[in-house]
Amino acid sequence: MNTDEYKLFISECKKSIGKSKPIDVTFDDKNINNLIFKNYYVARQKAANIRQKYINIIDELLVSFEKKSIENGVDISWCVDYDILIEEVVELLNDRKIKEVNLFETKFTNELGLHKNLKDEEISIISQNNKCVIFEPKYAISQSGSLFLVFNSAFEMELVLNAELKIFVIPFSNIIKNIEDIQLLTNLYSSNNEKKDFPYLSTIYTPKKSDDKNIKIFIVDNGRTNLLESKSHRMALTCIDCDACKKVCPIYGVIGDNPYNNVFTGPIANVTLPYLETIDSYKHLSFNCVLCGNCKKVCPMNIPITDLIISNRNIFFERKYIDFNDRYKIKILKNNLISRKKLNRKHWIKELLFRFYFSKKVASSRELPKFSKYTFEQIKSGKWKK
Ligand code: SF4
Repeated sequence: MNTDEYKLFISECKKSIGKSKPIDVTFDDKNINNLIFKNYYVARQKAANIRQKYINIIDELLVSFEKKSIENGVDISWCVDYDILIEEVVELLNDRKIKEVNLFETKFTNELGLHKNLKDEEISIISQNNKCVIFEPKYAISQSGSLFLVFNSAFEMELVLNAELKIFVIPFSNIIKNIEDIQLLTNLYSSNNEKKDFPYLSTIYTPKKSDDKNIKIFIVDNGRTNLLESKSHRMALTCIDCDACKKVCPIYGVIGDNPYNNVFTGPIANVTLPYLETIDSYKHLSFNCVLCGNCKKVCPMNIPITDLIISNRNIFFERKYIDFNDRYKIKILKNNLISRKKLNRKHWIKELLFRFYFSKKVASSRELPKFSKYTFEQIKSGKWKK
């Protein structure tokens, strides 16, 4: 891989080595989940089924949410990407001669670059301002056209709910059907994210007709339909951002956030970033994994993260996103690994061949592995003991 993004990734990884955090090998055994849920694994399966079901009928849910919102008197805008969103937000603010907004920053508002883009448009970001707030609801509820809002404090809640102009921005994947699903999803989020019961101040907010001039909801795609297109990869959209997978990932434990150069980091980002951004600039992330399966084991949404990483590798290889040199080496490895005759060659022949094909890439940064003197067959038959 020869892209600039890959080179930057490797140089940032090298800087991170030595500052590694230990991974939490006991993460899955901690019993907070068993205190919150009668049967954690049943709860987890139920939540995963709900999210997967909703992602599969997302078009119906979005139409129904829009219909309900319009009945409630709320204006909805669909934005394919962050450019369109910024354009529409700035137009709305200019129409109302608003020069100051209170932006509640989240991972999603950072993904959209709202802070920087609003500043570029000479709109000031003032906290504690309740003339205009920009806020990300945790979920949109299609059945009622309501929004599930989570706050860090009572003061924050008051600011948002009493703001003269409320602008809500939400990724389309965070739409659910029923209010009843919220408790399960939020408890799973907080028990995995912070290892405690859902501690936040929250409310289900249904905008009223009389408010219609003061509320605007933006539903944003920003690359998510690229994941939705694939039946297997759309499962990644069920992610509830709990970060459990990061806590158990041996690679993330070593490299941390910096090398990603993005708001998305960790195991799930290895799957999704090539689709949310471009395959060319983020394909290397799908090789940033030793396939230990820890992430898949702890994910409360049962997202098969390692399987999706393997699938990415296959897709990028088949579609020739991997450059010729690397494809050639992968083919050589594959031919040698699937042939018993080749695997049974003398260890020094294998070492010579390995050195010949891989020395430049591997030996520059670490020692080449030594092959066993004995084949699997010899080990199995006990010959190696003699
Ligand atoms: S992939 Fe699973 S474990 Fe990782 S953040 Fe998303 S929901 Fe949590």
